[in-house]
Amino acid sequence: MVSSEKQNPTNKPAADKAPVAGAPAKTAPIELPAASSVRQLSESFNVSPVEIIKRLMKSGIMANINQVVDYKTAATIATDLGLETRLKHRVLASEQHSELKDHQKSQPGELAGGLIHRPPVVTIMGHVDHGKTKLLDAIRQTNVVDTEAGGITQHIGAYQVEVNGQKVTFLDTPGHEAFTAMRARGAQVTDITVLVVAADDGVMPQTLEAIDHAKAAGVPIVVAINKIDKAGANPDRVKQQLAEAGLVVEDWGGDVISVPVSAREKTGIPQLLENLMILAEIEDLKADPTKPAEGTVIEAKMDKTRGALFTVLVSSGTLKEGEVIAVGENWGRVKAMFNYAGKRIKKAPPSTPVEVLGLSVAPQVGDIMTVVEDEKAAQALIAKKHEALEKEAAAAKAVNLSNVYDQINAGKVQELGIILKTDVQGSIEPIKNSLEKVSTDAVKVRIIHSGTGNITESDIMLAIASKAVVIGFNVATELGAKKQAEREGISIRNYSIIYNMVEDVEKALKGLLAPTLVEVIDGHAEIRALFTAGKKEKIAGVMVTDGKATRGAGVRVVRKGKILKTSTVESLRRFKDDVREVNTGYECGVGVEGFSDYQIGDILEFFHNEKSG
Ligand code: GDP
Repeated sequence: MVSSEKQNPTNKPAADKAPVAGAPAKTAPIELPAASSVRQLSESFNVSPVEIIKRLMKSGIMANINQVVDYKTAATIATDLGLETRLKHRVLASEQHSELKDHQKSQPGELAGGLIHRPPVVTIMGHVDHGKTKLLDAIRQTNVVDTEAGGITQHIGAYQVEVNGQKVTFLDTPGHEAFTAMRARGAQVTDITVLVVAADDGVMPQTLEAIDHAKAAGVPIVVAINKIDKAGANPDRVKQQLAEAGLVVEDWGGDVISVPVSAREKTGIPQLLENLMILAEIEDLKADPTKPAEGTVIEAKMDKTRGALFTVLVSSGTLKEGEVIAVGENWGRVKAMFNYAGKRIKKAPPSTPVEVLGLSVAPQVGDIMTVVEDEKAAQALIAKKHEALEKEAAAAKAVNLSNVYDQINAGKVQELGIILKTDVQGSIEPIKNSLEKVSTDAVKVRIIHSGTGNITESDIMLAIASKAVVIGFNVATELGAKKQAEREGISIRNYSIIYNMVEDVEKALKGLLAPTLVEVIDGHAEIRALFTAGKKEKIAGVMVTDGKATRGAGVRVVRKGKILKTSTVESLRRFKDDVREVNTGYECGVGVEGFSDYQIGDILEFFHNEKSG
């Protein structure tokens, strides 16, 4: 942030006070926050951004449109323009409550419609061992709000600190994996990301991954260049690497805030927090504390003595003790609430993390909590949610290369997001360029994330959260990732020739790509008897041991683990009747096309092929 104190020591009063056309009347002071960007000032003062930048230059401040200046500097420009300003008092959620209680509703700074500024919710991300946990600890130790309770006694998944009388909420589960897992469940609670980069190690693969995950979520990034106490620390190298990754920090002419810190020595923490507040100011985060509360579950557990406990981050409204809540599939009453310091509280305004006691079953992380009137309303809401979820599940198919064309035509997709994993770094750029070139007028191909190494669960999570497909080039898919992709219907395609990959994506966008087929096992049966039907047709008398047998399905005849024949079910009979399907536990007669050499004890495996992305 730019301050006029350093850069404009003379604080020169308006030398050229020429009032600007269209500027508001002098009699109405314009309310400004503690920090404003040039763009915001131009809107508040009703003058062009260029005008503001020119005036800043006169004061020796080189600014771009996103540059943030403090109130004092803004006020100087205002005077320069013949305008009067006053500092907007920021109403804190906690203050708002006591104010409401006192029936003093019209406070300076209160926003229209009961909205107030709420604390930003911050997640820390970065490469392993770069100091995420240490930084969270350092912030907690130096700035916790609730020192009364003797510091933090328990872990509830988030905590709050106070900076110049304003609160910041930190999520206590660092890393982009947890962040994206929440998004994959449809919950985005983070307002700002702190990207931790160790100054002695520089930008690493997970740093890049974190950048892409934050970008995909549209969450702004503040860089904390950590471990500056170390002998090998090289912050400039970090800045250069960040620029190469598309994050240009302020002192390199960009608009990304970076702050040197040492989590070990606890230095740079106030500056980091101050910058988070500035960004929060720009983001203009608001919520209405007077409404019934809504929030997201960020942690849940069953406590042996206390029962189901969960931490909810209140996103809007105020959660109060005694209220009825619907959480995911369950409902209950808020019996008690505890803040991050384990202290019992009665009310939780927006952006407050609270541990809640009152459900009989622990909810799922990512579940939405809603305050409702009573039990009946809770049940109705849960039923409605259920219905909506079912509809959504039926309608919202994950995008894959074989259905993208249909989804484009149905107007559901304007962009094909791709997560690209390759074996070597050198392949990424040429593949990216070739894939992006395939974009058509109707749909844009966008590489959401690219990196080297196998396809991991984190890649699948990002694909779910961003409705993207995963493409591998000469890489394997980790088992967990494979299972998760199958569960969620995420498409993974692997290639070893770039041309084939690009051609497939091109075809997919034109609706010309044939879907891949995946075999699904329907069931098994064991041969218990042999019959002859008609003149020479042999029939196997079987018992369906699991799943089902279907006429027309694929079938394999297996003897002692060896496949003797792969064919189709030509006939299927129960007693004398032809049937379409026979389920587990029933006997039937099966004729396999082109096969008659059955033996008692042979196993029949039934299967069918399904289209897959
Ligand atoms: P995480 O994996 O990103 O959560 O990293 P940790 O917070 O666990 O830190 C990894 C290691 O780096 C630990 O041994 C920390 O003590 C050390 N570390 C973290 N921050 C600093 C720092 O500012 N300076 C130094 N010298 N070491 C640090």
